[in-house]
Amino acid sequence: MSASTSSAAGLAQLPVSFEFFPPKTPEGAAKLRTVRQALYSRRPEFCSVTYGAGGSTQEGTFATVREILSEGCSAASHFSCIGATRASVREQLATLKAMGVKRLVALRGDLPSGYGAGGEFQYASDLVAFIRAETGHDFHIEVAAYPEVHPQARSPEADLQAYAAKVRAGADAAITQYFYNADAYFRFVDESRKLGLQVPVVPGIMPITSSTQLMRFSDACGAEIPRWIRLRLQGFGDDVESIKAFGLDVVTRLCEQLRQGGAPALHFYTMNQSVSTLALLDRLGLVADAAPAAR
Ligand code: FAD
Repeated sequence: MSASTSSAAGLAQLPVSFEFFPPKTPEGAAKLRTVRQALYSRRPEFCSVTYGAGGSTQEGTFATVREILSEGCSAASHFSCIGATRASVREQLATLKAMGVKRLVALRGDLPSGYGAGGEFQYASDLVAFIRAETGHDFHIEVAAYPEVHPQARSPEADLQAYAAKVRAGADAAITQYFYNADAYFRFVDESRKLGLQVPVVPGIMPITSSTQLMRFSDACGAEIPRWIRLRLQGFGDDVESIKAFGLDVVTRLCEQLRQGGAPALHFYTMNQSVSTLALLDRLGLVADAAPAAR
């Protein structure tokens, strides 16, 4: 997933990856299988599965990761360390290795409000260092990056240093929180390069399909919805088709800017849906391929 991959192979070959959350019901799992099959036609570099977010369990994450691997696609397991002990992390790493997982998205994670932090890891950088110390280079490690600054950061500079600590602890690449302002991404990449951090920073892309859902997520994770987008979405009211059409235009334009500016790949927050991500990929010319999904 290096910057050279996209330029050498031509713009149409920009690598993509897809993120899912573990479904909570058998119906959800069946639907997600169909969604994945549709998305595999775009030959993702990998598919990732969130961990702990929204109360999901480790078993749910591992079960979905297992399915993806059995479908012949590379899978990344998200792995959050908040509240974890060294012993529990060691055990989970052994399980993931035995499953054949080669990629992790290493995170601090968030505890539901009301819980104390606890655990033996304070920051994601501690987790990355531990994974490297325990497993060497068995895993390709991705970490989170925040072009618009993590909501709990003391300052943008402190947040950049926190990102630097994760890379220096051994991260191979980063995936960003979603954003709708390409300049924030380019500035983040420039600043990280000035610190000597050369790992690929892959933009996380959130399709816009629902106004209320987007506002709720964005308030929680600190992603900024530019005023003009917020106002336009509000103006559409319950007109879902207009929201989707507008969202497709806005996010296509964002992806084009990122591609032209040298983003090394695109990571899509699919929300376990294929339609909006496929529509974006079509618009971007990242079209279906006759070949089977990535191995
Ligand atoms: P960290 O990098 O540890 O940073 C957390 C905060 O601590 C930041 O404010 C940072 O500035 C600060 N900090 C870090 N190090 C230091 C230090 N040494 N001194 C002082 N301050 C410091 N959440 C889930 O629960 N499950 C998921 O699967 C999941 N997947 C995600 C995937 C991506 C790509 C992204 C961008 C986020 C994901 N999240 C997920 C959300 C993430 O867990 C939260 O944003 C969480 O609050 C921070 O995790 P982190 O790994 O970025 O933490």
